[in-house]
Amino acid sequence: MNDSLRFGCTGCGKCCTGHHVPLTLAEARRWADANGQVVVLIEAFVTDGPGMPLEQREHVLRRSHAVRCGASEARVSVTFAAFNPGRCRNLDDNDLCTIYDERPLVCRIYPVEINPHIPLRPENKDCPPEAWQQGPALIHGTQLVDAELEALVQASRQADRDDIAAKVAVCQALGMTTSALKGNGFTAYLPEMAAFAAALAQLPEDDGAQWTLHVQDDALAASLLAHGLRTTSEPPVYYAFIGF
Ligand code: SF4
Ligand code: SF4
Repeated sequence: MNDSLRFGCTGCGKCCTGHHVPLTLAEARRWADANGQVVVLIEAFVTDGPGMPLEQREHVLRRSHAVRCGASEARVSVTFAAFNPGRCRNLDDNDLCTIYDERPLVCRIYPVEINPHIPLRPENKDCPPEAWQQGPALIHGTQLVDAELEALVQASRQADRDDIAAKVAVCQALGMTTSALKGNGFTAYLPEMAAFAAALAQLPEDDGAQWTLHVQDDALAASLLAHGLRTTSEPPVYYAFIGF
């Protein structure tokens, strides 16, 4: 834990390269409307059961949504993120953001953590060493010094809670209903963007779809089946399974 940390962005642009940027629902709509690609990342857990980090109980419950899974119920967390395997499409040749005034919340918050259970560690960030040796105080203890930055973090957390039901309904409408178990991995989809944009525009109702958990470990699959959950270990066709 940092007692005190200062920070001054050097403008190196590294955080705009090779990072899938989590988007709020409204930001995902704008990204799609601007012909950007969105990647959908999904993980699931059972309340007070498999996959749930008990020390983060309130946080993960509030940003997840209950879905049917076999004879039981799982909770899924869905991230819509700007798909940036290389340089962000909005980064110009001078490493400047061409949508700076409208850039996503997460871009405004970096390198600060949004999850309240993850401490900010400079070694886990892309910012060069000099960025941590200049600029104003960023954190005292666990508190952000800048009230505006704190408000952005709170807005991002609130959007996660406000958007989750709609994001799950969009996934279901587009057949993205296989998740991984939280802590074991996540599933990743690259939706066809015209259909994705149309679903975002309509915001479909929750159709009560059945979900499946992708697990490759036999013992874990057996334990999930014992909870009444539906699992698969079939090689994915329409998604990627990113295991930990
Ligand atoms: S939108 Fe702008 S700030 Fe955000 S990753 Fe892209 S170039 Fe960087
Ligand atoms: S990686 Fe850090 S220092 Fe570099 S542009 Fe991003 S926030 Fe600024």
